[in-house]
Amino acid sequence: MTSISKAADNAANKAASNKLGLHGFVWEAGWDREQCARAIRNTGALGFDLIEACALDPSTIDVDFTRRELERAGIGLTFSLGLDADTDISSGDDDKTRRGEQKLNLILSIARDLGATHVCGILYSAFQKYAFPATSAGVARSVEVIRRVGEKAAASDIILGMEVVNRYETNVINTASQGVEFCRRVGLPNVRVHLDCYHMNIEEADVGAAIIETGAYLGYFHTGDSNRGYLGSGSIDFSRVFRALVRSGYAGPITFESFSSKVVGQPLEGILGIWRNLWDDGHDLSAHAKQFTEAHLKAAREAIAHTHSPLV
Ligand code: MN
Repeated sequence: MTSISKAADNAANKAASNKLGLHGFVWEAGWDREQCARAIRNTGALGFDLIEACALDPSTIDVDFTRRELERAGIGLTFSLGLDADTDISSGDDDKTRRGEQKLNLILSIARDLGATHVCGILYSAFQKYAFPATSAGVARSVEVIRRVGEKAAASDIILGMEVVNRYETNVINTASQGVEFCRRVGLPNVRVHLDCYHMNIEEADVGAAIIETGAYLGYFHTGDSNRGYLGSGSIDFSRVFRALVRSGYAGPITFESFSSKVVGQPLEGILGIWRNLWDDGHDLSAHAKQFTEAHLKAAREAIAHTHSPLV
């Protein structure tokens, strides 16, 4: 066996440990007891390894109840959220920055109590369309806050994922290379880049190359098609996406995210522009996403195991 194919095999074996996740918004817009129980049970029943819960409003999360439901379903949990204008740690405003840090710390404590492995999303700025570019002073403050929060997260073995999102959702991190630069400035091994191929499809020159170049900084991955509906029903080249994930040796979670007006209400509906109903049956959508992801991962591993070309 050549060293190149050995490296490819190692990468393929590492990728074999990817946990597959499902965003809770496929099931429910909120997290009261009934919604939490349904979302967790449905996710477990489809064979996913974890559910990604929205932590936009941490006051709605009943920690003990959620923990029992997770244990019963035998699945793990990750959190995602975006800050808002009032808690924007990239704003340069002292009060907003302080409130943002408090919110991140609150979510971190809930994540720790629930055994969450990752807290992801737009943790570094508000989740909104900005009318102006980010300022270097504001971004520097954001880096400082994320470093302090990241140090606390490390004590609980939690990875913070800085989600790279398109220009309409933040003005701080729109490309994978900006994500890597932000994480490099933070300088902690548990503060990583969170990529989402829906956003990458808008902003990156080459989605596959951006995944490879993110390399070891990659800590979380969202799948979603260009229309945020069924995987494969849009224009994203998933063959290339999954080959790049396998080639890069990425071993972290791969979580499917899809939004439909059938489930999601405000504020997300407004921020994300979810005006269309792209599916009616969350079970069918999610079962398909799991099969699609597994089939593409398998195909990517086979492609890479049987070629010496670094371009595959
Ligand atoms: Mn995402």
